[in-house]
Amino acid sequence: MLSTDTRQLKTEAICLKVFPHGESDFIVHFLSPELGKFGVIAKNVRKAKSQLKGACEVISVVQLELHRGKNLHILSQYESKQSFPAIRSDIILLAGALVAVELLAGVTNEGDTDSGYLYDTLLESLQRLEGLSQREEEKLSGLFEQLCLLSMQVLETSGYGLSVDTCVICHHTQEMTAPVYYFSPSLGGVLCAECGSTVPSSSRVKTRAETLKALAAPSAYSWSPEVGLNTQKLLHYYLSHKLERSLKAYAFLFDLLI
Ligand SMILES: [Zn+2]
Repeated sequence: MLSTDTRQLKTEAICLKVFPHGESDFIVHFLSPELGKFGVIAKNVRKAKSQLKGACEVISVVQLELHRGKNLHILSQYESKQSFPAIRSDIILLAGALVAVELLAGVTNEGDTDSGYLYDTLLESLQRLEGLSQREEEKLSGLFEQLCLLSMQVLETSGYGLSVDTCVICHHTQEMTAPVYYFSPSLGGVLCAECGSTVPSSSRVKTRAETLKALAAPSAYSWSPEVGLNTQKLLHYYLSHKLERSLKAYAFLFDLLI
């Protein structure tokens, strides 16, 4: 809930990104339901005994108290709401959670305040990752399911929606029986083999029916590590094109999965 005091702000938020600033401060990006994505300066937190350190841990959910600033708000107090210990103690889950927050950080803009749905979607994904089984196979399936659900919902809501079952040129719904499909980030989705062959190879990649089926219905899909990795590679290819930069958390996840 936002405070009505004009100098003070209070809001719940998820920590998306932390950068060193000067010798002793951090700049921290958060996502909140009311403020959208915003930056905060956390002063002196890089010194030994700062009480504010816990607010500067990526993926943590915190209740923030801020002094309103011209460019950046100033962190004055926080209360930890959820810290996700199971995610933090498992490197694959941590990599997946970092993909989730980097995705949200990438598709949101500062100043877009109508972020309640995106906030709830990210929070729910983190909570589901936290509750996943520790058995390796179930954990990986759950991770891929959650990352695909989150990605498809967040992309759709942010205006980056992509078509994974209907060819973006001929508009035919694909039966997913062909040996090869194509995917074009600039055209926003899948291409049947025929249409794909008309698009320059620099603007598309080959993909398989299994990858597209998994993206179209993540909760109904029977995941394998190979298909899981391929879905994330396709999403990374798409996002890198849309955001015009590579996303580090995906590279970290791929290193762990290959
Ligand atoms: Zn087509």
